[in-house]
Amino acid sequence: MTDTNLPTFDGRAFINGDRVAAISGQTFDCISPVDGRVLTAVARSGEADVNAAVAAARAAFEDRRWSGMAPAARKRVMIKFADLVAAAGDELALTEALDMGKPVKYAKGVDVNAAANCIRWYGEAVDKIYDEIAPTADTALALITRQPVGVVGVIVPWNYPMIMAAWKIAPALAAGNSVVLKPSEKSPLTALRLAELALQAGIPAGVFNVVPGFGPEAGSPLALHMDVDCIAFTGSTPVGKKIHMMAGQSNLKRAWTELGGKSPNIVFADCPDLDRSVEAAVGSIFFNQGESCNAPSRLFVEESIKDAFLEKALKLVPGYQPGNPLDKNTVMGAIVDQVQLDNVMRYIGLGQSEGAKLLAGGALASPVAGGCYVQPTIFDGVKPEMTIAREEIFGPVLSVLSFSDAADVVKQANASVYGLQAAVWTRDINKAHGVARALRAGTVHVNSYDEDDITVPFGGFKQSGVGRDKSLHAFDKYTETKTTWIRIDSPL
Ligand code: NAD
Repeated sequence: MTDTNLPTFDGRAFINGDRVAAISGQTFDCISPVDGRVLTAVARSGEADVNAAVAAARAAFEDRRWSGMAPAARKRVMIKFADLVAAAGDELALTEALDMGKPVKYAKGVDVNAAANCIRWYGEAVDKIYDEIAPTADTALALITRQPVGVVGVIVPWNYPMIMAAWKIAPALAAGNSVVLKPSEKSPLTALRLAELALQAGIPAGVFNVVPGFGPEAGSPLALHMDVDCIAFTGSTPVGKKIHMMAGQSNLKRAWTELGGKSPNIVFADCPDLDRSVEAAVGSIFFNQGESCNAPSRLFVEESIKDAFLEKALKLVPGYQPGNPLDKNTVMGAIVDQVQLDNVMRYIGLGQSEGAKLLAGGALASPVAGGCYVQPTIFDGVKPEMTIAREEIFGPVLSVLSFSDAADVVKQANASVYGLQAAVWTRDINKAHGVARALRAGTVHVNSYDEDDITVPFGGFKQSGVGRDKSLHAFDKYTETKTTWIRIDSPL
């Protein structure tokens, strides 16, 4: 791609309906992992910028320009917003590919579609939710209603910048809240465009603000802010713990966290279709360069089929060699930045030094000079105590373990601080139900991996976080329950 084909990028913050520089005037370079080029200078927001964004969000909330709109009216605006996101699909996908390194075909086919669909779905839902009346004596009418929580702070990671933002801003906005979004410093550009499109759709100025910047400089002031009513976070478990602490030490704002994972994918010898299991195991760990919270990074294969399974898996690996993310045929792109690439290589080194057997990959790749690429990597002979079996790598590295029976594998699978997602492959309905029930994970797939829909909740057990994104359940996070007790002095 020549420079003249690139979209132009605006890295300024978005506050109260306007693009603005950071109050300090500071910026940071937004560097593409595709080839190391600087895409643009981005506003380096700090506490003063967060204060301005929260003040705008609060003013918009209090004057009810959005929160006071009838749900049917908000619905129309949300649907327009979704339409504009879909219409800007090519530009958003190219921006995401350049900013974050994912293949442009998935940025369009998965990320843009999922974000637009999510915004549309919550818009469609919001005028179909009824409040309740409690069963009381005739002397009272007790209304149980849902009201927006107020100003919602949103902090998201870099791996699915638009989808992670949409999963939070869509239900929060649809429910009538105002939002201040802090995207990851590694991939801030599409979030800024979402805010522009929201304004264009008719979401009033001040309702949706974006403050790009670094975690401690822009994220912490948001999580600590006394005038933010709720903080919704997606990111790593260590930072998620800080978010809960900041919520507690400030104004006890509601804190929701979607955190890390080390998801077990369990394949029994009686899986319905070995080829399908192999394709899902390999495809899901290498999708998005392995930079997925729910990547099935621990593969448990029943001993008796392990050799056959791995033979088939290795045949698929060449199809996942990294390529230029801007090439429409590429299925695996660049790692988000040099820091993350170094991290992945460190884990590959640990796998080797702790005695796992490197079956595929393990080295850097270089489809585009100056970019951040690593080969798809598979380790066999991984033992539960090894670092690559316990820690989230967040890269295209598969750890293969084996097991003897259902009880053994459930014990191994649950021996993790995480509990985000899991899968079990078997034809035996009793085994499927028994294992699915015993697995401590927010989602358990049976005979699939990572099939997904906006209608189902997403989130984790244990240290994979608190709360659920997606589905109607997400409205619970962004609304308060109010009881209005009306005494009735009946004339009868
Ligand atoms: P991260 O925790 O480093 O950063 C996430 C966000 O938090 C970024 O915007 C960052 O700037 C901000 N942040 C960092 N330090 C902060 C602080 N002290 N105060 C406030 N904000 C701060 O995570 P990451 O590297 O961007 O993303 C990868 C992680 O996200 C992985 O652990 C992955 O599993 C997780 N993730 C989880 C889900 C899920 O739904 N469970 C989805 C995607 C990613």
